[in-house]
Amino acid sequence: MNRNYMELELKKATSHLAKLVYGGNFIRANAVTMKRVCGNPRCRCAIQNKKHISLYLCRKQDKKTKMTYVPVRLEEDVKKKINNYHKIKDLLEKISELNYKQLKLDKESV
Ligand SMILES: [Zn+2]
Repeated sequence: MNRNYMELELKKATSHLAKLVYGGNFIRANAVTMKRVCGNPRCRCAIQNKKHISLYLCRKQDKKTKMTYVPVRLEEDVKKKINNYHKIKDLLEKISELNYKQLKLDKESV
């Protein structure tokens, strides 16, 4: 990688990251789907054993894993926010690696 290319990559990644962060539109979580019964004795989940598939968010907080149920009406929005969070994480990592390369830190010997 030459220097100009690296600077261009760094600029691209940084401006992409800035846009995502500026929107404030992110949630740190891993999405998991689980089957569940809703509690209504007349629902198909109770009568026909056709369980509902629900979205939950898993996140570590104070060394504990927290599970949070996501209502159906918020699923799409929440998935987008999680996606943004992962993009931000990837971009941070990319920018960090580019800085290693730019400073040639990996090639320095102790
Ligand atoms: Zn049900």
